[in-house]
Amino acid sequence: MTSAIASDACADVIVVGAGAAGMTAAAVAAAQGLRVLLLEQSRWIGGTTAISGGMVWIPANHKMPSAGIADSLDEARRYLGHTIPPGGDAQALETFLTRGDEAIRYLEARTALRLQPVMRYPDYYPERPGATPAAGCSSRYRSMPRCSAAHSRCCARRCRSSCCSAA
Ligand SMILES: Cc1cc2nc3c(=O)[nH]c(=O)nc-3n(C[C@H](O)[C@H](O)[C@H](O)COP(=O)(O)OP(=O)(O)OC[C@H]3O[C@@H](n4cnc5c(N)ncnc54)[C@H](O)[C@@H]3O)c2cc1C
Repeated sequence: MTSAIASDACADVIVVGAGAAGMTAAAVAAAQGLRVLLLEQSRWIGGTTAISGGMVWIPANHKMPSAGIADSLDEARRYLGHTIPPGGDAQALETFLTRGDEAIRYLEARTALRLQPVMRYPDYYPERPGATPAAGCSSRYRSMPRCSAAHSRCCARRCRSSCCSAA
């Protein structure tokens, strides 16, 4: 941590790590009205997430139809059935499929996060059953829009980022 924590700091929730997982947990806790203390070990916010492609794979998400992309949870289930090795947590997988879009809707409604459809980006194994095709405007991915100039200036001071110009 580069910033000291006041000895009288008070929090309902302590989150460790300011990558996608930690920042999402912190944002949801704050949106629920809780006081959050987010601890980050490095001088940069963002972790691996900030240098990643930033794309979130959410099958049959609610922005796909307006982008002209057809999809269904059944097709996604079929694809994952031909992609993930057997023996995993079937219930966790089903929760991801059936509640992924709800999570994104929540974050967009209750936090500053905004996502947009990623066009022309196939699933990683496009030849497998249920995959979105390698050709054409079809993608289950969504990503953040580019940073605004103001956000980039602010972000460059604190973020380890591929979209902003932090070192
Ligand atoms: C080049 C690249 C492209 C990628 N593209 C994609 C993509 O498009 N879509 C996708 O879904 N995935 C992608 N990934 C994978 C994805 O980036 C990671 O799975 C994801 O970022 C992990 O998020 P996280 O929050 O778990 O970890 P991180 O983003 O790494 O965050 C962890 C944070 O915790 C901090 N931390 C660790 N230990 C402590 C501690 N003890 N105390 C305090 N802080 C601590 C770290 O400093 C870091 O800031 C990509 C990865 C790479 C490298």
